[in-house]
Formats: sequence, C-alpha cells, structure tokens
Amino acid sequence: MDDWILSERPEAPEEACGVFGVYAPDEQVSRLIYFGLHALQHRGQESAGIAVADGHTMTLRKELGLVPQVFKEGDLDTLEGHIGIGHTRYSTTGSSSSWENAQPMLSSIGPNTIALAHNGNLVNTVELRDKLKGVGIRFRSTTDSEVMVTLINHFTQKHHAIRGGIREAMKLITGAYAVVMMSEEALYAFRDPNGVRPLVLGTLPAGAGWVIASETCALDIVGAEFVRDVAPGELIKISSAGIESEQAVEPGRTALCIFEFVYFARPDSSMYDCTLYEARQKMGAAIARSAPADADLVIGVPDSGTPAATGFAQASGIPYGEGLAKNRYVGRTFISPSQMLRQQGIKLKLNPMKHMLAGKRIVVVDDSIVRGNTTRKLVALLREAGATEVHMRITSPPVAWPCFYGIDTDTQEQLIGAMKTVDEIRDHIGADTLAYLSVEDMVAATGAPAESYCLACFTGDYPVEIPDSVRQGKMALESGVSC
Ligand code: SF4
Repeated sequence: MDDWILSERPEAPEEACGVFGVYAPDEQVSRLIYFGLHALQHRGQESAGIAVADGHTMTLRKELGLVPQVFKEGDLDTLEGHIGIGHTRYSTTGSSSSWENAQPMLSSIGPNTIALAHNGNLVNTVELRDKLKGVGIRFRSTTDSEVMVTLINHFTQKHHAIRGGIREAMKLITGAYAVVMMSEEALYAFRDPNGVRPLVLGTLPAGAGWVIASETCALDIVGAEFVRDVAPGELIKISSAGIESEQAVEPGRTALCIFEFVYFARPDSSMYDCTLYEARQKMGAAIARSAPADADLVIGVPDSGTPAATGFAQASGIPYGEGLAKNRYVGRTFISPSQMLRQQGIKLKLNPMKHMLAGKRIVVVDDSIVRGNTTRKLVALLREAGATEVHMRITSPPVAWPCFYGIDTDTQEQLIGAMKTVDEIRDHIGADTLAYLSVEDMVAATGAPAESYCLACFTGDYPVEIPDSVRQGKMALESGVSC
C-alpha cells in the first residue's frame, strides 16, 4: 500500500474504523468484544473502546492506542454485562489524538443512554450539527459519530422509542455508515442505504447469542457463524424478544467500497461470497496477463500485496519470493499522524532482503499508489539492495478522486493519479516499468458486477452526492467533523 496516509485532510481511500457488537444473555461479553476488536485492529489503530450493559447499567472504557494497550485483564473484568459494542478507530475527520473522538460515543438525554460505534463518514455532518446546536445541544467531540448518536437520542425522546429515533435519524443522515449501537437492554445495527462500508451478522455457537461485525474475520475469532450481511438501509434490533429486522430506509444503489477488496479488509474475510485473499490473487493474475514483465522474481509489498504477487507469479510462470521483510509490530504506514512519522514509517516497516534481490529483475506487486512518495522510496530501497530492474504492478487503477465515505486520502491535487500520466508516475517513482489494473479487471476479480460497488476514487462517480462544504476536508468541524 502506498501512502494512504494523513495529511491535513482525508480524501479518497484510507480505512476508518472497525465495529463489533454482541448480544449473549448468559455471557460476560467484554472478552468476546476484546477479541473481536483484535481481529479488526487493521481497520483502526488510533483508539479502541468497549461499552457494555447488563440490562440496567452501561459501562464504557475507551482510550487512545491499540486494543491490547487500552484493555488489560482487570479492565475487562470491570466491564460487566451481556450486551456490548466495541470500536477501533482510524480518523477520517476530526482530530486523531483526542480522547473525546474515540468511540463508542455515549449520549444521555433524559432517562435515555445509548452508545454507538460507527464505521464510515457522513457528508452532511455540519448541517446536522448546526441544527442540533440550534436546539441547545452541545458537543464534546469533533466527530460525525457524536452528531449521529445525539441525533438518534434526540429523536428517541420524541418517539419514546429507540427504533423510531434511529429510523428518523437515518432519513436525515447522508453518507456512509455501518453502525452498532446499544441501549441498556438491546443491541442495534444499521447500515446506510448504499451499503458503502461492510457489516455482517453472525451467531455464537449453541445459540448463545448474536454478533455484528465489520468483517467475517471478527466472527471467526469468537467462533461465530456467518449468517448474512446487514442489508443496505436495514435496521436490526436484538433483545430478550429475539432478533427483529426492518427496512428503515429504502435501499439505494448498492455501493460497497471496492477498496475493501483491494486493500482494507483482512485477506481471510469474505465479501460477496468471495474471500479477499482469492480476489487479490485474481487481481494479481489479471495484471500479469494485461501487463506482463520480463523478470526473474515476483515479490509483493507485504502484507496486502502478497496474495496478488502469488497470483501474478502463478499466471506469469515467474518464481515468487519474499524480497521484503516486514516488521509486523509497527502499525500500517498510513496510520502515522504526521508527515515526519510517515516518512519514517516505511523504514520502520520494510527491510529489503539483499540475498533475494541482488542481481535480479524484480516485479513488485502492490495494491495502490496514492501520493507516490512511499512507492518512490520503496523502489529506491530495492535498487540499493541490488535489484537490476524494478517493474511495479499495481492491482488497482490510478487513484484520481478523493473519498468522502470514511477513507482518508488527500485533496485531488495531492493524488498522483490525478495529476500525472502513468509514464510521469513511473518516472516519479523511479521504476523501469509501471502498470495499473483496469477497473474492469479489478471488478471481475471480485466475482460481483460493477453495479455492486463504489468505484468513485477511480472514476469520480460518487454514489452519494457530496456537498461543497464537505469537500473542504477532514478538519471541517475543527475548524469541524469525523469518524
Ligand atoms: S471513494 Fe468509494 S471506492 Fe473509493 S475508497 Fe471511498 S468508498 Fe471506497
């Protein structure tokens, strides 16, 4: 992955948040949530949080840091209850370093306390926030998620029912949201009408309860069985009355983020009945056919480029090898919250293996190029290690449009795919050759039709309209907003 990294604002794809929820009447769910969040750590590494309820009382713990840094054994013991939600955060809007912006977000109005965990990004946050401020509501964080939980609680008062509150809020909020939410008595899950961010429903063994998660890998870790996706526009309630589902808002055009397949989701997760490992292998095989290279060795940029590199090797007949060792105890480079840290990131993470590379013509398979700076450093590292030729193969098309749906990229001017031709990018990164996968081949590798996806960062065709004010960027509320 190139530098899906922070600058002053988010743009097109960079991942943002994992969510997990459990309803299990005879269990202390805090440990299940802890392990669920562990499986979703790749979706957000800035903060982690768990809220639980026992039917009467709600308890919340959240902190900046990785899941094991935030929760110790004793913390989990104090989180008592059979209902719970959890969150791992990567900020796309709002400051990354503020405790208030960590999730779950709590809202208490009158007798109602609800907690919410959100993956995605609303595009009308400023407008909604201004309306709520107009009726005297004050905010503690700069996130769109606090606006959402407050709006829901506000409407819950009006309807005297949480589901009524969620339904009315869903009619007003626009953008991407995959949400788990809880009261003291029930677990809720709902998803935007386009289904931009993933959300799945599973069952615990022996009918012990229900699980909602961003990805199937988080079901696997707690031994839950995948049941189905939460449908676009669907609202689910799980309580002592069992599971209830309704179509809270009309579904729009289905627009699951294609970047889940390219990079974001874990390779052992499945979407649209396809494991992401398999889809990435097919992407690698497809670019081997569309842009072959005369080379001695195929390597992937670990971890996300590895399945695609094996696919390239199988399709091309060029041997596959590991040419880059990754320090797995350093976060993904795009998580680094400053330019200086980002520049250090690749040195911390990737070390070229000279004995594999020296004197060889190398095909390097990676999933994307955003700004191009990280890829340029990578090519230089490979040459320093003795590679005689470097042929970059990217398993997605050029990223030329910013994302407003929960992925952090820069302004269009900072996206190298928007500003330069492929030949110019090749020269910028210093590769001998450079080729990108076509939109058609990328989609074909997933096994689902193009109409199932948001492809906006490659095509500029946004499934949810973006107000001009949102294009101002990540810090709109801080100057402005987030999840
Ligand atoms: S613009 Fe669409 S495809 Fe691109 S990262 Fe955002 S949600 Fe995903």
